[in-house]
Amino acid sequence: MNTVFFKTIPLLLLVFVTTHATAQNLKLLNGSWFNGERFEKKDTMYVNEGFFSNEAPQVALDTTLDFTGKYLLPPFVEAHTHNLSSSYGLQGILQAYLEEGTFYVQVLGCSQKARTEVVEILETSKSFLEPSFSNGGITSSLGHPFMIYEPLAMGIYDPATRKDRYQEVIKSRLAQNDAYWFFDTVAEADQHWDELMKTQPDVIKIMLIDAENYQQQQKDSTFIGRKGVSPEVAQHVVEKAHKAGLRVFSHIETANDFRLGLDIGVDVFAHMPGYGYGGTGDLGKYQLTPEDFKRAATQGVAIIPTAYLALRRLPRKNTAVKEKALSAILEFQKSFFEAAAHFEIQMALGADDFGETLMKEVKYLQENGLLSNLGLLQMMTENGAKICFPDKKIGALAEGFEGSFLVLEQNPILDFSTLDNIVLRVKKGKVLH
Ligand SMILES: [Zn+2]
Repeated sequence: MNTVFFKTIPLLLLVFVTTHATAQNLKLLNGSWFNGERFEKKDTMYVNEGFFSNEAPQVALDTTLDFTGKYLLPPFVEAHTHNLSSSYGLQGILQAYLEEGTFYVQVLGCSQKARTEVVEILETSKSFLEPSFSNGGITSSLGHPFMIYEPLAMGIYDPATRKDRYQEVIKSRLAQNDAYWFFDTVAEADQHWDELMKTQPDVIKIMLIDAENYQQQQKDSTFIGRKGVSPEVAQHVVEKAHKAGLRVFSHIETANDFRLGLDIGVDVFAHMPGYGYGGTGDLGKYQLTPEDFKRAATQGVAIIPTAYLALRRLPRKNTAVKEKALSAILEFQKSFFEAAAHFEIQMALGADDFGETLMKEVKYLQENGLLSNLGLLQMMTENGAKICFPDKKIGALAEGFEGSFLVLEQNPILDFSTLDNIVLRVKKGKVLH
């Protein structure tokens, strides 16, 4: 058995652990460990067959690591992404997740075909990354996410080509009952339900897009790609999902979508209402009342805000207009996060942007002072785990939980920038490189 002193000889450690990349039984000494509220000093902890244990394993230890002066916290969960909805650029994405310390991701929309392909790549390469999938989104005919996934299925990747071939796209159905499901009626939901269940979704994803105006959207072709399910179908799908033991994550746009979601028993909102508010126009339809927050808290629903997406809606005009819009966005978001904190709404975080990872959203929230460092860390670890992976023992550094952790030089509650320099990543007792 060897004891490696992290503090004094970090380089030697790296050489040493390279040869022990498969170690699963570890003795961990010292360091400050995140307990969900603060970092507390610990003398000894073990990893036994990949899980934390207070007791020494019965078998021989593979190695001992000394974390004197270091800070340990659980790896991160990205709660809303569409990365992994294709194997395109997968290696780069995996590298980004590894570097930022995200080991678990929830993919809220993808084709079953792509999922199968990606999961096979992850399994064959024994990847550190563990995904969960909603599979296809439930919407109405030609609703969101049709205009995302149908062109992709047709091999159209460029938005300009998508425009040129628009008539062809809206007649095509290559990704139907795969990357999207058109449930226009309760009967259609019943008819395709078994087929949907065969794709083995981990959660169900529905689209509520200004759902109170559903009837009007159906009559107007400008809503193609920008509409979701009717309130009746949404309610029916939530009932069916719950009967099947599946939780429902809902895309929403407005405060009334949020209220409808609460009425019908949605479990998690995949956005905050008004996530797409670009800083101009009517804000009223996006603002929740204290009563709404109170109901959400009582029902125990969670929200994945995807706040940074608002930047994509900023007006592309001159700087003055842009700056004014940006401050309106931040003011709106600040009041949302203050109320959410006041009513203790559970939140997890995700960038919801193909090619971007969790840290994009986290840094936006941190740099704009929308959430505290501690609040962010809780959402990235324990909350993300509970909301997205309730069946996994992850998100805490405690007996019985996965022996997975990140090691930092500084206390990230005091110095958030230390997250840019993770010194060691361990997954179930294995040191990652
Ligand atoms: Zn999304």
